[in-house]
Amino acid sequence: MIASISGRWAMGTFLGRYHCLVLSNNLRGLGVLTNLVLWVFIRCKHYRRRCKIRAPCCNEIYPCRHCHNEATSMLRNHFDRHELVRCDVKQVVCSVCDTEQPVAQVCTNCGVNMGEYFCRICKFYDDDIQKGQFHCDDCGICRVGGREKFFHCEKCGSCYSVALRDNHLCVENSMRHHCPICYEYLFDSLKDTAVMKCGHTMHCECYEEMIKRDKYCCPICSKSIVDMSRTWKRIDEEIEATVMPDDYRYRKKLFSGYSSFTMDLDPANGPFD
Ligand SMILES: [Zn+2]
Ligand SMILES: [Zn+2]
Ligand SMILES: [Zn+2]
Ligand SMILES: [Zn+2]
Ligand SMILES: [Zn+2]
Ligand SMILES: [Zn+2]
Ligand SMILES: [Zn+2]
Ligand SMILES: [Zn+2]
Repeated sequence: MIASISGRWAMGTFLGRYHCLVLSNNLRGLGVLTNLVLWVFIRCKHYRRRCKIRAPCCNEIYPCRHCHNEATSMLRNHFDRHELVRCDVKQVVCSVCDTEQPVAQVCTNCGVNMGEYFCRICKFYDDDIQKGQFHCDDCGICRVGGREKFFHCEKCGSCYSVALRDNHLCVENSMRHHCPICYEYLFDSLKDTAVMKCGHTMHCECYEEMIKRDKYCCPICSKSIVDMSRTWKRIDEEIEATVMPDDYRYRKKLFSGYSSFTMDLDPANGPFD
């Protein structure tokens, strides 16, 4: 019996979206425990939980909504591509006894807890409570990182780290857009988000990547994301100390928005500073 289960693993039944643990021979003989051992280790790459969800949109069963969205975003026909609305999930399938049932934390058939963390609103299950999941009523979704470490900024329309309370420039719905670097939607992204000095947001990892490439301005509004006052001062001093060649001394280039024009002035008025 164990050999046949191992065979299914090895054959790749769970390959792809599942991390699998190939059971070693020393588990032989554990008999009935095997099923339990198996579901403990079956997980998608997003969550560890003991149920799958039936997608209300396409009526298919997926380990989680991210797995659904990844699969449907790759469909050949563009019109078939769609995203799952988490609150619309009505049915789940217990991973232990395979019973399909209405959304609830405990399986009505075998009594297993299908997720240590369970949100009735988001229809969300996750065994890894170390993440500090909490549901924000104002955001309308579950977030991670511990409720006490976040506050909901009414103006920005999203949860921010308490370190940013009274310490950031509010931009209306600043999280309801796509990361300007990787174009993933930020509001419910699983990755950490950075808030720039201008109030605009992007993923922390995309922000760091941008700094590594020596880009120091916000890709949305072009404002500096770090304090540039010393740099500007140094450039001003360099310009001040540079004597303009005679040809350019009486010529000034003016910039206005994206256009520029050159103005010749009367040398009698003296050179420009
Ligand atoms: Zn669907
Ligand atoms: Zn998943
Ligand atoms: Zn069950
Ligand atoms: Zn929730
Ligand atoms: Zn919130
Ligand atoms: Zn704000
Ligand atoms: Zn990004
Ligand atoms: Zn900006």
